[in-house]
Amino acid sequence: MNKRILITGGAGFIGSHLSERLLNDGNNVICLDNFHTSNKANIEHLLENPLFKLVQHDVTIPYFIEADEIYNLACPASPIHYQNNPIKTMKTSILGSINMLELAEKLGIKILQASTSEIYGDPEIHPQPESYRGNVNPIGTRSCYDEGKRCAETIFFDFHRQYKFPIKVVRIFNTYGPRMHPRDGRVVSNFIVQALQNQEITIYGKGHQTRSFCYIDDLIDGMIKMMQSPDDFTGPLNLGNPQECTILELAEKIIDLTGSQSKLIFKPLPPDDPCRRKPSIDLAIKKLKWVPEIPLEQGLMKTIGYFRILLSRPLIPINFCVSHSSILS
Ligand code: NAD
Ligand code: UDP
Repeated sequence: MNKRILITGGAGFIGSHLSERLLNDGNNVICLDNFHTSNKANIEHLLENPLFKLVQHDVTIPYFIEADEIYNLACPASPIHYQNNPIKTMKTSILGSINMLELAEKLGIKILQASTSEIYGDPEIHPQPESYRGNVNPIGTRSCYDEGKRCAETIFFDFHRQYKFPIKVVRIFNTYGPRMHPRDGRVVSNFIVQALQNQEITIYGKGHQTRSFCYIDDLIDGMIKMMQSPDDFTGPLNLGNPQECTILELAEKIIDLTGSQSKLIFKPLPPDDPCRRKPSIDLAIKKLKWVPEIPLEQGLMKTIGYFRILLSRPLIPINFCVSHSSILS
């Protein structure tokens, strides 16, 4: 049966892909977003679809609508975005979760939380299984995001225990693909934009830190499978691609795939930047039979294709070209 699905943060990078997929499957999608870190361009192609409804709203303010499921994605996700207004980031994680959980409780429906690998902080065990409780600095510049998301997980499980309705918590590891914001400062978008413009590629620290990058289509498959899994499976569940690489290797791969003349430059490592990150996905394999299928090079080629077109446009939407503080003002 087709459902009415509410997606908070539905106009963002992940939210726009999720909206598209759920619409293609014949569902009604209500996309709630305040455009804090995204642009209408991400969902422009969906606006004509009668099954799609856009609601411009801030998730920190209560909102009521009839729905069958909720995906709670609203939250700035890149370090420069979430650090730009850390109090707002915390409010979005915590008040946004409470508002959406109260709605889910009232309607008695399933709700999925987009949590993050950041809840493991700078991990001391590798790869990271869901049972690892993390190594997070509670007072640093990343804490508004890490602790906000940790607190959101707590709130999800408390609502679940207290009011007995189904919740789903996924911990998303670094995901990339078309519709990433070209100025969001994340490593994949930064390196591709720099490489395509033959600008210096900015490596923070020595570039020996690792990440494991998941292509957006694989992530969306995992999120939908998790939502459709039996109600008694709450997670938390890691979703990510365990193919790990150093940031230097990523830069070299992107230079190679773009045929760029860019040189590497080294800049200071931001505080509390995790040294290593790689998901253990044993639980996702066991519970969802989910395994990411798109290798890094293939996903990078698709993403490079997207940015090539975006950068070739004479009129890039205004908030894609200005400084970060202006984007977020
Ligand atoms: P994004 O910044 O592209 O999308 C976030 C969306 O939420 C944007 O459209 C933004 O405008 C909206 N938003 C922010 N604050 C809001 C508010 N107060 N009210 C309403 N809307 C608001 O980021 P993304 O990469 O698409 O991330 C989506 C979710 O997935 C986030 O919750 C993020 O923490 C989580 N996540 C993403 C990654 C990743 O690698 N992309 C990794 C881990 C977790
Ligand atoms: N990074 C980098 N150069 C950049 C942007 C990021 O070297 O231009 C590094 C960053 O320090 C981190 C890694 O790439 O070690 C991933 O950064 P990103 O912001 O994409 O994600 P996160 O740190 O949240 O995993």
